Amino acid sequence: MADKPCCEPVAMNDCCNGATVLIYPCSGSSDVGEISDHAGRLLTKEGFGKMHCLAGIGGRVPGITLSAQAADKILAIDGCPQDCASKTLFVAGIDGFASVRVTDHGMPKGKTPVTDSNVRTIVQRGAEALRASELRASA
Ligand code: SF4
Repeated sequence: MADKPCCEPVAMNDCCNGATVLIYPCSGSSDVGEISDHAGRLLTKEGFGKMHCLAGIGGRVPGITLSAQAADKILAIDGCPQDCASKTLFVAGIDGFASVRVTDHGMPKGKTPVTDSNVRTIVQRGAEALRASELRASA
């Protein structure tokens, strides 16, 4: 089985002075998980970083895990207090990342429509968390 990463890390952005920024939404099946996924994609489209594959971290796919370990900044987007994105990163030995949790922003799990407005709220919170975060020591 090839271990070539599906998505190469790229330096970008208007947020972090050219740092390599990777974004890991939980992409869960619930409404708040879907919002996390859309927010990760929109943050990528708007140049704040690059969404990467959280499943690749969970599966310890070598190229994907190495990319995360080398990133200057990482944003985890968790849908709810289960914090699956953050915990997946921690268990893989990846720390020093910023995070945002959808349910912390007035969006209860199972009761929140997946609207542009709600996605935009998480994009804004994620961008703020990235701007406030330090470069990762392990990068
Ligand atoms: S953090 Fe919550 S919404 Fe996201 S995958 Fe885990 S249980 Fe699902």
